[in-house]
Amino acid sequence: MLRATLFIVLFLTSISVATAATITEYKGIFRPGLDREGGLRVAIREFKKDGEPALLLVNPNDLSTCVAKRGELDASRPVPEDKLSTTPYIKSLRRFTKPSGLLQNHGARRSEQPVNGLFMTIDMCPSVRPFEQAFFESLMALPQGREGAVPVAVAMTGAWLKNHPKELSWLKEQQQKGRLTITWVNHSLNHPYNPKERLERTFLLTPGTDFDNEVLATEKLLLENGLLPAPFFRFPGLVSDDSLVKRLGELGLIPLGSDAWLAKGETPKMGSFILVHGNGNEPQGIRRFPPLLQQMKDFHLLPLTSAFVPAGR
Ligand SMILES: [Zn+2]
Repeated sequence: MLRATLFIVLFLTSISVATAATITEYKGIFRPGLDREGGLRVAIREFKKDGEPALLLVNPNDLSTCVAKRGELDASRPVPEDKLSTTPYIKSLRRFTKPSGLLQNHGARRSEQPVNGLFMTIDMCPSVRPFEQAFFESLMALPQGREGAVPVAVAMTGAWLKNHPKELSWLKEQQQKGRLTITWVNHSLNHPYNPKERLERTFLLTPGTDFDNEVLATEKLLLENGLLPAPFFRFPGLVSDDSLVKRLGELGLIPLGSDAWLAKGETPKMGSFILVHGNGNEPQGIRRFPPLLQQMKDFHLLPLTSAFVPAGR
């Protein structure tokens, strides 16, 4: 028994080491095709993983992602447009990357489906403060944690990831132990911000920002750290304009807003995308969580993808 446990521990360790990789020639593509089992997939990135040609695939029916060798996607025959356009991924991508004229909170703000639960989205903007480990622990201590991993979405910046290796390992460890299931949302590489500027000239609208690099370099960092990027993006400050949103759509990512930013006093309802900061920069949002649990007795978190996928699909 002990030997078996030891074997499992060593095996898990070797998987986590093996998933860290060198990623080069990373670029955006849009290539529908079939995987080896005949399942519909859309390749949204092409790159080399430790020198081998690889793809980042989205399953358009459940919005899950995976990394595959390039030869594992058969894109030799065209996928009929109606087969693709009726999938939850393509429907959501088109719907949420249409021009809206909004400068703030463009995108999906709550579940598209009737659901019995909420969605926790935790932004990790650049920060020098200690991260909110106790908050993550309180999520893992939710009653549902007794039945399995608690689903959360972490919106990660490259700048936080690079400067917090210990905290990142701790998050990965919770994932490996089956305590958290983390959907890794892209929150840009540098997350520029100047509080003195108008919204039109700050965050990713800061003049001179290389938007493609802000998106792609973050995913590359996630992959190099053995983490799987999801097809979602949270704009820093929730600030964007129609041209950024359009480009995001071309890059195959769905923008995420929020209808329950706790630090702004917004109150979640069933299906809400709750927004808190896990980087220590917004303790007032974190402080609202325990009273919220008191008020919402049946507080239950759901995986972000289920906000976009009809039940039973
Ligand atoms: Zn942020």
